[in-house]
Amino acid sequence: MPHTDEVFDVIVVGAGNAAFTAALAARAEGARVVVLEKASHKLRGGNTRFTGGVFRCVYNSLEDLIAVVRDNDDPSTVALDPYTREDYLQDLARVTGGRTDPALSQTLVDRSYDTVRWMADLGVAWEFSRAVGAVTIAGAAKVKLSRGGALRAKGEGVLLSSTLFRLADAADIPVLYETQAGRIVTGPDGRVSGLEVRGPEGIRTLACRALVLASGGFQASPDMRTAYLGPTWSLVKVRGTRFNTGEMIRQALDLGAQSYGEWAGCHATPIDADAPSYGELRLTDKTNRLSYPFSVMINLDGERFVDEGEDFNLYTYAKMGREILRQPRATIFQVFDRTTTPLLETRYNTGTPVVADSLADLADGIEQRYGALGFRKTAFLATLEAYNAAVQDGAFDPDVLDGKHSLGLRPDKTNWATRIETPPFCAYAVSLGITFTFGGIRINTDAAVVDQLERPIPGLFATGEMTGGFFYHNYPGGAGLMRGAVFGRLAGTHAARFARERRD
Ligand SMILES: Cc1cc2nc3c(=O)[nH]c(=O)nc-3n(C[C@H](O)[C@H](O)[C@H](O)COP(=O)(O)OP(=O)(O)OC[C@H]3O[C@@H](n4cnc5c(N)ncnc54)[C@H](O)[C@@H]3O)c2cc1C
Repeated sequence: MPHTDEVFDVIVVGAGNAAFTAALAARAEGARVVVLEKASHKLRGGNTRFTGGVFRCVYNSLEDLIAVVRDNDDPSTVALDPYTREDYLQDLARVTGGRTDPALSQTLVDRSYDTVRWMADLGVAWEFSRAVGAVTIAGAAKVKLSRGGALRAKGEGVLLSSTLFRLADAADIPVLYETQAGRIVTGPDGRVSGLEVRGPEGIRTLACRALVLASGGFQASPDMRTAYLGPTWSLVKVRGTRFNTGEMIRQALDLGAQSYGEWAGCHATPIDADAPSYGELRLTDKTNRLSYPFSVMINLDGERFVDEGEDFNLYTYAKMGREILRQPRATIFQVFDRTTTPLLETRYNTGTPVVADSLADLADGIEQRYGALGFRKTAFLATLEAYNAAVQDGAFDPDVLDGKHSLGLRPDKTNWATRIETPPFCAYAVSLGITFTFGGIRINTDAAVVDQLERPIPGLFATGEMTGGFFYHNYPGGAGLMRGAVFGRLAGTHAARFARERRD
């Protein structure tokens, strides 16, 4: 337990990936650092602990990733296409409709690879990511990894999180649990000088020379969701931690920080309709239902509502939750047949699908289980029939945008359109879960929080989910953790240097 009457060089708020990369970078600069965690020891670690651990970074060859993964995985079992700086920038621009902040996204991309290597040097273990978007190569004992999504922290978020706590401990960085940050205190010169906290010992003020905010978005706050995302978001399920409730975003705004990004936007994905209201650590991200590009998605009214095959799932899953929210009761069915069920991610094992040998029996089974929600069986069967009739011939290839499509439907399916015709058939009931929010406070490329005139607020830095301007409408999978780490490292380094200048 640190002496809380001392002046810390750097206080870091939050105990996720963004926070610990900041804390470790600040410590490496010689700063005296403390980490504040709102959650208890048992529930610590934020959304980071729930993640699949995928970090989207630049790599020009398999060798680049071998230099990160080291002895933790077998490179002979994987294949990949390079993912260049230009690919990453293009992906960010494409999925955000050209709105991503150019300077911030360039920093994210340009620092991505050296940041994962830095984390490996610190002691984070990495492996190839075979979960999302990876495809088994027929006839070869290899898996083709998803472009841009090829690297993940070994043991996913659970091990990443425990490693970060361990590294902090080894670096002599104390963590104060059940300690909620509040008002940011500034001196007469406008510099940050401390932070009010509510903890087991009551309310007190900790003094500091620099402050790094890394306390997540506002997705777990029903009131902020309702205010900024809209009333339909008030009751949605939260995929991860219940502690990211946005109060430090508000505190920074009150201090004069500039708000930035898409405040009405968020990352929300298809998840099991029976998933709990908040993330549970026994399930982490295993409630995700992301194999929909190989499915037909039908709502309770018996209608399709989206192009399931618009793109690879890593480029559509973050916006798909919003589409599901627009459907009656925010519940839909993903329907597969024997041709496509072998392609399902293993995460589907946590669900209980309706399975049948004919489409009519499948519809009966859905009605039995979900009839009370208003399922329209006749329309469901008519939609499947129309879909099957509209599927055009062509080669199906899950590894590429194969262009195998339907014709004449609204909406058409533009890739991976196979007929649902080979029993057994199965249907998974799917709803949505919010992952994190896109709006937040504005930082510059040093991770310094800026005011309305884009001047840094002296001593205030931020990183991770709470920063805006990176993602709009959508998000390329794996860019969240990467953003937190790149700007966490920058925030920690610059905060420590700022503190040193004040001390000297
Ligand atoms: C199920 C799931 C799977 C995901 N998978 C991936 C993935 O594979 N790849 C990817 O890039 N992204 C993924 N994400 C998104 C990812 O979680 C975020 O982008 C990233 O982890 C956020 O890191 P962070 O450090 O900013 O926030 P968090 O890890 O959420 O950390 C925030 C911390 O702040 C604490 N806190 C909040 N308020 C206060 C306060 N007032 N005082 C003190 N502490 C406070 C919280 O308790 C928490 O410890 C996933 C998210 C979920 C929910």
